[in-house]
Amino acid sequence: MISNRMKNLHPYVPGEQPKDREYIKLNANENPYKPSPKVVEAVVNAATSHSERLGLYPDPDSNELKSAIAKMLNETGGVLCRANVASDGTVSPSESDRIPFEVTKDMVFCGNGSDEVLSFVFYSFFDGDRELVLPEHTYSFYPVYAGFYQIPLDKVPLKADWTLDTEKMLSDANGKDSSVIFANPNAPTGLSLTRDEVRRMIGRAPKDRIFVVDEAYVDFGGESAIPLIKEFDNLVVVRTFSKSLCGAGQRLGYIVSNPKLIECVTTVKNSFNHFPVDFLTQTAGIAACSDVAYYVGCAKKVASVRDDFVSFLRSKGWFVIDSCTNFVFAKKDGVPGEETYRAIKADGILVRHFSTPGIEEFLRITIGTEEQMEALKKIMEKI
Ligand SMILES: *Cc1c(COP(=O)(O)O)cnc(C)c1O
Repeated sequence: MISNRMKNLHPYVPGEQPKDREYIKLNANENPYKPSPKVVEAVVNAATSHSERLGLYPDPDSNELKSAIAKMLNETGGVLCRANVASDGTVSPSESDRIPFEVTKDMVFCGNGSDEVLSFVFYSFFDGDRELVLPEHTYSFYPVYAGFYQIPLDKVPLKADWTLDTEKMLSDANGKDSSVIFANPNAPTGLSLTRDEVRRMIGRAPKDRIFVVDEAYVDFGGESAIPLIKEFDNLVVVRTFSKSLCGAGQRLGYIVSNPKLIECVTTVKNSFNHFPVDFLTQTAGIAACSDVAYYVGCAKKVASVRDDFVSFLRSKGWFVIDSCTNFVFAKKDGVPGEETYRAIKADGILVRHFSTPGIEEFLRITIGTEEQMEALKKIMEKI
């Protein structure tokens, strides 16, 4: 009764969402701040004043939303936490983030969360005839899609300092004429390659194979690869509204790449689900992009609460990997990760523990509001 394909499925396990009591959720890298009031207003207005639109199919290609995303990227340089906000609310990129060309609508693709967008990327660009090169520890959905699409993997171990082994990844990619995928900043480590490091890497990777950089966390302090898109026609950058744009509940992810590759992914989308981004989500996304100053404020806040929390953990003897994301990855000698996770949960806060060999001593802790982190500090002081 069941297809052979089913046997290759090993579904992704997201951070738990228990309903037995009210937890402070620091386990799924969601943003602790609410969306901009303008997003709420736009959604309420769409649902009330334009309720007939709920009965009609949405724009299949999210055209207005793609334009709004392109505009946001040009305004911010693709990194919210370093963008400048003038007193009149105008947003401009920091000098180092400025994109040396104009991002246009035809360089953007939108989907139902970056998870779906990644699935289209896997389908469009990776074949089962060669191994896809990725770090051993990175976003754990990539191996799930590899199983789904039957793409063999070459998992390259991280270096002893938890950074990517870019030399080994490159020599493997060249040896096998393979594509490369990783998250930058990486998850769950939180470490980031600079744009120059990414540039050097793509420059030495196979030219005829797609190179994917997943920038889910870049807004909290990494460097975006978007400025490299005109230099490399094999570069695909994947991004999401779930983390820095306070939108995990609305499911919106996107790709930035050259128009040719965007067309490929659009063909895959139209062969699978014509309308992945519903009308209310398109409405919310457009409104979010038009109030980017609000999200710049949220990202700066998260970054500053994070830096404070990292100092706290280190002062208590924890080993904390430097983070330019909205989470920290930390461990303490003699304090087993799983036990600590349970102790913290018993006190009403959820953090993430992975039982994956090699990282099982660590906890991944999402940065919440100042108050949430104060509550967590109190618990951790007892441990
Ligand atoms: C959270 C996350 C995603 C998924 O984001 P959605 O848009 O919510 O599907 C993708 N990649 C990485 C690295 C993430 O951490």
